[in-house]
Amino acid sequence: MKLLEDRIREDGVVLPGNVLKVNQFLNHQIDPELMYALGKEFANLYQAEKITKILTIEASGIAPAIMTGLILHVPVLFARKQKSVTMNDNLYTADVYSYTKKTKNKVAVTKNFLHATDRVLIVDDFLANGQAVNGLLDICEQAHAGVVGVGIAIEKSFQAGAQLIRKRGVRLESLARIASFTNNEVHFVGGEDS
Ligand code: 5GP
Repeated sequence: MKLLEDRIREDGVVLPGNVLKVNQFLNHQIDPELMYALGKEFANLYQAEKITKILTIEASGIAPAIMTGLILHVPVLFARKQKSVTMNDNLYTADVYSYTKKTKNKVAVTKNFLHATDRVLIVDDFLANGQAVNGLLDICEQAHAGVVGVGIAIEKSFQAGAQLIRKRGVRLESLARIASFTNNEVHFVGGEDS
């Protein structure tokens, strides 16, 4: 998606550890118009799928997810990160290792909000090694909910996540795909310089 790639080129900062900082428009300050455009793109890509729910993970997935939900007229559910989930049988949970924080979080969704009749689109801001999406897929599995696919704003294609999701047999659509951060610059998949 050219709009997103242009914005990444303009405002993205490459940090050590293969981390892209996009605090200008996604991870701290949020550009609602850009988020709306992402939502429209996801809605368009998955329009045939009769989606009933968007599932994301707090916090940075919420902005693109909520715009997708707005356009598709479906609720947006976000998995919450909790330090300890003890003896609560009203939750679906999964362990997620955080790429940026280097910590393991338990993430949880209340059972009342996810059902076997749901057709879920998982949305997140970044895809790196796929741990966040994998956790959300596990949660959907526990609920016996159907997953129609995954929508990612920024995929770092040189990391393991994309392959992991496809291996699970799940459709993946990423709006910007990064091939490398060579020389601290962003090179997109299919770009002249990738
Ligand atoms: P994964 O679980 O796929 O390894 O990493 C995805 C999660 O880690 C995303 O939810 C996102 O919050 C965070 N993340 C991974 N890579 C980056 C990155 O390069 N930049 C930012 N800002 N967040 C990232």
